[in-house]
Amino acid sequence: MRQDAMPPEVRSRLKQKIKREAAKLGINLTGFANVERWKEYHDLPEEFWPQTIWPWSRMVVVLGVQIYLPMLETTPSVVYSELYNTTNRMLDECAYQLANFLNQKGFRAHFFPRDCYGDISVLVKKPEAAFSHVMAGRYAGLGTIGMNHTLLTRQYGPRVRLVSVITDAEVHPDPVLTEDICIRCGQCAKRCPMRAFAPDGGPVYAMDKHRCAGYHQRLKNEFRYPCGLCTAVCPVGEDRKRYGASSVTEAGIAHCQNFGSRNAVE
Ligand code: SF4
Ligand code: SF4
Repeated sequence: MRQDAMPPEVRSRLKQKIKREAAKLGINLTGFANVERWKEYHDLPEEFWPQTIWPWSRMVVVLGVQIYLPMLETTPSVVYSELYNTTNRMLDECAYQLANFLNQKGFRAHFFPRDCYGDISVLVKKPEAAFSHVMAGRYAGLGTIGMNHTLLTRQYGPRVRLVSVITDAEVHPDPVLTEDICIRCGQCAKRCPMRAFAPDGGPVYAMDKHRCAGYHQRLKNEFRYPCGLCTAVCPVGEDRKRYGASSVTEAGIAHCQNFGSRNAVE
């Protein structure tokens, strides 16, 4: 159906169908942003806007899956590393299938893969990706940006991984959250092993991305990439309430960090 001929109730039904399809695929969070929001908020250079790259794009559907807190809390470990890889595979597959679903309904659609920086060795030299799913998540109403530069959601705090489907299917966008979810407790900065964060009076910490990426390179060589401690310690999120202050014992952390990961190269 032509976009300009799509009545509001049809748009609304289409949005519900997309949400149902995403939920069937195992997606935990789905949000909708119109591409105008990249221009309206102007957080990113124009070359990073979806409509600059694909001029026909009208909406970005942002999909999120949760990071299981008990696995993340063992980081850096082979346990979290495998979880990270699993969420990445799942996100790309779900985004592929959702884009396919939209194609079959006659819309243009494809996805921006979840990382888009090639390899950690590239990130060490140039610490940015081709697309910010974090910013897309904010524009799609899924959360707000925390002091630690991640997307903080009410459901999972920053423990969510994201991917974005780009489409010309125009549905009603979700409202951008106006109330800040970050409680500015400073735990992320305090617990960062690389001291990558520093207050500079801005809405987020100044971040030494090269330090963070350099540490990740080391962890990758030790088969226990990535770090993510600044997301593990964040007190925000319903998942945190479920597990309390800590979900894993100190002995358990040591076990997961030493088995099949760090010791493999010592
Ligand atoms: S740990 Fe605290 S300061 Fe850091 S992002 Fe979470 S709520 Fe914000
Ligand atoms: S991922 Fe690790 S090294 Fe990087 S900022 Fe977060 S806590 Fe620090």
